[in-house]
Amino acid sequence: MPAFLGRLLDLIYPPLCPVCGSLLTDEEACLCTACRYHLPRTRFEDFRHNGACDRLADRLPFDKAYAAFHYMKESSIQLLFEQFKYHGDKRLATYLATLAGRELSDRSFFDEMDLIVPVPLHANRLRQRGYNQSELIARALGECSGLPVETEALARRRETLTQTRKSLWERQLNMRDVFVALRPDLLCDRHVLLVDDVMTTGATMLASARSLREAGCGRLSFFALALA
Ligand SMILES: [Zn+2]
Repeated sequence: MPAFLGRLLDLIYPPLCPVCGSLLTDEEACLCTACRYHLPRTRFEDFRHNGACDRLADRLPFDKAYAAFHYMKESSIQLLFEQFKYHGDKRLATYLATLAGRELSDRSFFDEMDLIVPVPLHANRLRQRGYNQSELIARALGECSGLPVETEALARRRETLTQTRKSLWERQLNMRDVFVALRPDLLCDRHVLLVDDVMTTGATMLASARSLREAGCGRLSFFALALA
């Protein structure tokens, strides 16, 4: 779009903060400064012992795990996730992941990692939504870290019903054989960072991780944009 058209659109539809509705200044991208400041950050300092690691502990060997935000009901983060998952506002996924990715890059989180793999959507869901929100997050982390993002390595072979009312055991059963690693050649002995939007029990991450392991992937680390 030509720049003058963008400025004209800004005059007709001025950019507003999606959380509080205030007018954004030229320096504010996506969120106003106050809402960005009040995002529920986890501030996990230690990548091997934190709330995200606890969800996965004792179930599979892994290197590091991190979640950037607390996913709280009726919080700004829930509103932002709904915007990018169900209302097509892809910029918000990139924006939030970049906030986290820059900090992680400064703190050597990505050191010794070889590639980033987003948790895939089933082909039907991808067609419906038009994009995979985990891939948007993975690509933003790829920009921050310089690591390649590999979307062909892992596929989801069946759709899963909503997991919200299921127990951990039921979730794990529900996730069995959902994922398949398609490109062992890309994974063999590599240190993979697996990326998802929200980690709840960790069942999705673990099911994806097991498929990567079976395909010969070496070390594994995890990133979730939010921890529910
Ligand atoms: Zn705001």
